[in-house]
Amino acid sequence: MNALAQLAYLLAAVLFILGLKMLGSPKTARTGNLIGAVGMLIAIVVTLTDQKILDFSYILTGLILGSFLGILLAQKVKMTQMPQMVGVLNGFGGGASTLVALAEYIRMGGGLTSWNQADAGLGVLIPIVLSLLIGTVTFTGSMVASAKLQGAMRGAPILYPLQKQSNAGMFLLILVLGLFFVLDPTRWYLLLIIIVISGVLGVTSVIPIGGADMPVAISLMNSYSGLAGATTGFILSNNVLIISGTLVGTSGIILTSIMCKAMNRSLANVLFAGVGADYDPNAAATEQRTVIRYTPEDAAYILESAQSVIIVPGYGLAVAQAQHVLQELVNVLSHRGCRVRYAIHPVAGRMPGHMNVLLAEANAPYDLLFEMDQINDDFQNTDVALVIGANDVVNPAARYKKDSPLYGMPILNVDQARTVIVCKRSLSPGFAGEDNELFYNQKTMMVFGDAKATVTNLVHLLKE
Ligand code: NAP
Repeated sequence: MNALAQLAYLLAAVLFILGLKMLGSPKTARTGNLIGAVGMLIAIVVTLTDQKILDFSYILTGLILGSFLGILLAQKVKMTQMPQMVGVLNGFGGGASTLVALAEYIRMGGGLTSWNQADAGLGVLIPIVLSLLIGTVTFTGSMVASAKLQGAMRGAPILYPLQKQSNAGMFLLILVLGLFFVLDPTRWYLLLIIIVISGVLGVTSVIPIGGADMPVAISLMNSYSGLAGATTGFILSNNVLIISGTLVGTSGIILTSIMCKAMNRSLANVLFAGVGADYDPNAAATEQRTVIRYTPEDAAYILESAQSVIIVPGYGLAVAQAQHVLQELVNVLSHRGCRVRYAIHPVAGRMPGHMNVLLAEANAPYDLLFEMDQINDDFQNTDVALVIGANDVVNPAARYKKDSPLYGMPILNVDQARTVIVCKRSLSPGFAGEDNELFYNQKTMMVFGDAKATVTNLVHLLKE
C-alpha cells in the first residue's frame, strides 16, 4: 500500500506541475486548473486512506461539503473581489499548517516531561517552529490584507515610529525562542509564545502596506502559505505536501517579482515605503486644466472610419463589468472590416491576469489578446487606441516625471496612435494618484461616463 501511495503522490505531483505549466497561457488555463484540481483530489484521498485517518463516509462528506462551498464562493464572489478571496484562502492554508504542526507536536508527546528528543529529532523540531512562524504570520497577515481590500479596514498605510525595527525585533525573538524550544522540546509554552508573536508580526508587517499594493502582499502571502505547507510536509514526512508546498512557494515568489517588475518597484519599496500614506485623492483632480468633452456620437464617428483599433482595458472595465459589451463592440467593429486587438498591460486591474480573466469571461478570442511587449510598437501604425477604464498603465508621466510613483513603469504607448479615445467617468487619477497627461493631449478624445454605458452606446451607434 505504501508503494502504491507513493506512486499516487508522484502522479499528483506531476499533475500539479503540468497544471501550473498550463496556467501560463489563457488558452490552456482552464484545463490546467482542472488538472491541478484532479492532482489535489488524488493527494487528499490517498493521504486519508493511506493513513487510515477517516473512513469513507467522512471523506465523502468532506468532499461534498468542500465542493458545495467552493461552488458557492465561485458564484458569489465578484471578479473585483477575487484578490481578497485569494487572501482569505492563503490565510486558511497558513492557519492549517499552524494547527497541523501543533497537533503533531502534541501527538508526539509534546508538553510531557517524558519527551525524548531522539524520537523526533531536529528534522521535525525545526520544521515545527518554522511552520508555526510562517503559518501564523500568513494567517493573520492575509486576514488583514483581505480586510483592507474588502474595505473592512482603512486601506491607507498605517505607519508608526520604529515600525521596521520592531518587526525585525519580533522576528529575531521568535528565532531565539525557537532555538530554546529545539534545545528542550518539553518547553511547550515557548510554542504558544511563538504563535502569539507571529500573529502580531503578521498584522504589523501588513498594516504599513497601502490597499492598492495589497495584491503584491497577497501574492507574497501565497508564497508563504506554500512554504508553511512544505515545512509541515517535513513534520509529517509527506512527500506530496513538500512538493506542492514548494511549488506554491516558488510560484508565489515568481508572481510577486513579476508584479514588482511591471510596476518598476522593488519588493522592499512595496512592503516598506507606505505608498499612498500621504496621498490626497483630490489633489490631482483640483488642478486647473481643461479638456474637451466628447460625446459617444463623436467617438462612434471616429471608430466608424477606423481601419485598426487597439483596445486598452483597465481596472474601470472590471468595476463597470463592461467586458461582455466590449467584446460585442469588437465583434461589430470586426464585422465592419476593422482590425481590432486588445493590449494587456501586466498590471492592468488589481491582480495579475485580471484583464485576461475578465475577457475570457466575455469569450474574447485569445488570438486578439496581446501582451504589452508584443503590441507596443504597433500603436504608431494604429488609427484608434480605445482606452476603457485604464489610467496608470497609459500615463506618459511614467516616462519622464522622476518624482512620480509611476516613474520607470513601462506603459502602453497609446499616445502614439493617430487618435486616442478614453472612456472613464471623470478626470480622477488612477491607483497611483498621478494626474494623466494623456487626457490633455490634442489627439485625445475624453468620453466621460460609466464604461458599460458608454460602450453600450457605442455598440448601438455603430449598429445603426
Ligand atoms: P487605474 O490606474 O487604477 O485606473 C482605473 C480607472 O478606471 C480610474 O482612473 C477610474 O477613473 C476608472 N473607472 C473606475 N470605475 C469606472 C467605471 N465604472 N467606468 C469607467 N471608468 C471607471 O487602473 P489601471 O490603468 O488598470 O492600472 C492598474 C493600477 O493598479 C496600476 O497602477 C498598477 O500598478 C496597480 N496595481 C495592479 C496590480 C495587478 O496585479 N494588476 C497589483 C497592484 C497594483 P474614474 O473614477 O474617473 O472613472
